[in-house]
Amino acid sequence: MRGGHLPHVGLGVPLYPAGHSLIVFLLVFGVTSLVARRVVLELLGWLSHILIDIFTHSFRYYATRFLWPVSDYRFNGIPWWTPWFWCCTYGALAIVYFLLWRKGWLRASIE
Ligand SMILES: [Zn+2]
Repeated sequence: MRGGHLPHVGLGVPLYPAGHSLIVFLLVFGVTSLVARRVVLELLGWLSHILIDIFTHSFRYYATRFLWPVSDYRFNGIPWWTPWFWCCTYGALAIVYFLLWRKGWLRASIE
């Protein structure tokens, strides 16, 4: 160790593409569903994360290697931190939150 820093173990390199791969997702989803003897719908949040990341990362920053380890193909999406895109994202979240609040669907989750 130099200068009090932790040693670099390089776990982030394989874990990031593995965690953002549709192939890895399908394998884990399939095995988990077989073991659980049901379709594990809870894992669909992971799938939605991958699908969103494909279109919200650019070649400049962590373009999603969604076919890893078979292919390094990446899509040059709109970076999520682009100001107009960021405003649209949070605007959409605010609208959905407002609609959920107006319908009274948020009260049940607080109780
Ligand atoms: Zn991600």
